[in-house]
Amino acid sequence: MSIDELFTKPCPNCHVEMPDGIATCTNCGFDLKQGGVWPPSIDHNVPPSTPPKDWVRITVQVLGGFVLAAILTFFGTILLLIGPLISAIIFFSTRKSSPYFANGILAGLVVGLVGVGACFAMLGKSGL
Ligand SMILES: [Zn+2]
Repeated sequence: MSIDELFTKPCPNCHVEMPDGIATCTNCGFDLKQGGVWPPSIDHNVPPSTPPKDWVRITVQVLGGFVLAAILTFFGTILLLIGPLISAIIFFSTRKSSPYFANGILAGLVVGLVGVGACFAMLGKSGL
């Protein structure tokens, strides 16, 4: 090994020995100053999505669907018997476009039906 070989580096792209300190590989044009990273890393970029806002949006959708379906089911069952049907239609029509809202609708539908059942149970007890 000669002294000159101590000051050479293999090009990371074509593995030809290049004098240390030069910016560009004279064999293939590889950018040696970048440390073999090309194109430059974009890891430092902050992801565009912001989790806190997403959670607010999700919570609003779930709660909105829940309250809507609970009210529809509870009062719809007592008054017109179509509340659960409307809630089910909303669930099936929104479960693909806005799944969080649909989950809220489903939860509201279940809770509404439980509430209706509890009301009828109480009416039955008071009737006796
Ligand atoms: Zn090269």
